[in-house]
Amino acid sequence: MFDELYQEILMDHYRHPRNAADLSHIPDSRIHENPTCGDAIKIEITSVNEMVTSIQHETYGCAISTASASLMSEYLKGKNVFQVQEEIIKFLKIMRGELPTDNLDTFEDLVCLAGVAKLPVRLKCATLAWHALLDCILHLVSGVTLP
Ligand code: ZN
Repeated sequence: MFDELYQEILMDHYRHPRNAADLSHIPDSRIHENPTCGDAIKIEITSVNEMVTSIQHETYGCAISTASASLMSEYLKGKNVFQVQEEIIKFLKIMRGELPTDNLDTFEDLVCLAGVAKLPVRLKCATLAWHALLDCILHLVSGVTLP
């Protein structure tokens, strides 16, 4: 029952990705790719006074990678840069199985990706956007080390 609901959320974000934009002005060198599936993403963020005011993405890929980028952009937009960074790291730990999936309960609609955390082959699809965003954030914040 929940699985069906989650599937619906996922497909809705795949068909109508939120915060999707034409980012052709960003050089191709900043594309993040998941070669195992063929997913590719560019991300652009803007921030004002340490608050992430917009997260835009251009995603070409499967339903999971596109939906994950869309859900992520909605969830993290408007948060403090350092909080965004913490959330990304927590999400990656959940997806990698280093934290239980019930930790996704605080991630709003991203909970629909809980099932994906059990599928190692789709892990890179689900986390691609998050790695790309973390890269953007690290460009913004200096003196940060990855976990
Ligand atoms: Zn994929």
